[in-house]
Amino acid sequence: MAIEYTEEHDMFRQSLRKFYEKEVLPYYAEWEKERQIPRSIWKSYGSQGFLCPWLPEKYGGADLGFEYSVIAIEEMSRADVGIPFSLHSNIIVPYIEALGNEEQKERWLPGCASGDILTAIGMTEPDAGSDLAGIKTTAVKDGDDYIINGQKVFITNGWDSDLVIVACKTGNNEKPHRNMSLIVVETGTPGYTKSEPLRKMGRHTEGTVELFFEDCRVPQKNLLGEEGKGFYYLMDKLQQERIVSALGSLLAAEKMFNEGLAYSKERVAFGQKIGSFQANSFKLAEMATEIEIARTFLEDLISDHVAGKKIPAARVSMAKWWISEMANRVAYHSLQLFGGYGYMEEYPISKHYQNVRVETIFAGSTEIMKTIIAKDLGL
Ligand SMILES: Cc1cc2nc3c(=O)[nH]c(=O)nc-3n(C[C@H](O)[C@H](O)[C@H](O)COP(=O)(O)OP(=O)(O)OC[C@H]3O[C@@H](n4cnc5c(N)ncnc54)[C@H](O)[C@@H]3O)c2cc1C
Repeated sequence: MAIEYTEEHDMFRQSLRKFYEKEVLPYYAEWEKERQIPRSIWKSYGSQGFLCPWLPEKYGGADLGFEYSVIAIEEMSRADVGIPFSLHSNIIVPYIEALGNEEQKERWLPGCASGDILTAIGMTEPDAGSDLAGIKTTAVKDGDDYIINGQKVFITNGWDSDLVIVACKTGNNEKPHRNMSLIVVETGTPGYTKSEPLRKMGRHTEGTVELFFEDCRVPQKNLLGEEGKGFYYLMDKLQQERIVSALGSLLAAEKMFNEGLAYSKERVAFGQKIGSFQANSFKLAEMATEIEIARTFLEDLISDHVAGKKIPAARVSMAKWWISEMANRVAYHSLQLFGGYGYMEEYPISKHYQNVRVETIFAGSTEIMKTIIAKDLGL
């Protein structure tokens, strides 16, 4: 069942559209070239109530439902830009809101909503990605502090972030899942440094970096939630991350399909529109079908999430892997319709093809999603 939108939702959508048209699109090509988004754009987005709209008013939010986050994600996709607003709003800040004590929430959340405090999350390490329980970064108690040592890699928005939630080992329990804790580290803390943004095949404006912790002393009051429960907190919050990721994949698929469809109605070869060759029209028919199936499934899942229903992890995993793989099939076949032009940077399909590739890898790879589903099947 699709979300039923009201006039308030439409107003929110229209103001987002204006924001992108006026404040982002005229400058975005330049930012993309520089691979850097100005801080001022975060503040402007925050001051208009678009960052973390779901946060309670006392922390600077507007107490709105998840459907407002969906609208914000849709409008960014429509504008065809990539700024990690959604990662901050829908994936990282929720940890602070759900797990933080009152002092932590008052310290960080208003800045997160205004755009003064930008966030990142550091789980992945050079030797531990899918196998999250295998991380090696340690946080050892010393007086009132933790001393953190270790390294994180591929951290989105790490470059601009003012604080990062770091997954650390805090104990010697034989079960590695019970040794993990989430600790907030603020930029500028001695012993905490970042690499230059990593060179990637796409998503150039997302400031992806490595993080280094060398005898980094962080007050114990920066621990989020209870010590030793980090792995379970991550597993819980990864559900919304995977829904957001599946939505990103679906929107990308729709965009690439529309590009391929429009081009195949214009481009002529052998005296006829390329879309009229049955090989291509069947391909487009297949893509349209897969997108429709994905939208129906995901809308059902999102409306349950908006209604606050607990969605089984296996169902979220199904959406995450299947829709991200489907979006990559659409990327491949839509680009193919463009022939050589699809390989040229000036054609948006070329950028979309590169950007969508990571969707089957991050937020839990396709293979990891299938292991979750298989476990649920009793395998
Ligand atoms: C652009 C980008 C942004 C990212 N942003 C963040 C971020 O903000 N924060 C963060 O913490 N991380 C981030 N990541 C990291 C991402 O989550 C990991 O890359 C991902 O979890 C996979 O881990 P890995 O790269 O170590 O691959 P590995 O875990 O080494 O996996 C390699 C391959 O083996 C497969 N594999 C692994 N285990 C199994 C298994 N049991 N069965 C079958 N196949 C298996 C995987 O599916 C994959 O295909 C980002 C990555 C990228 C590329």
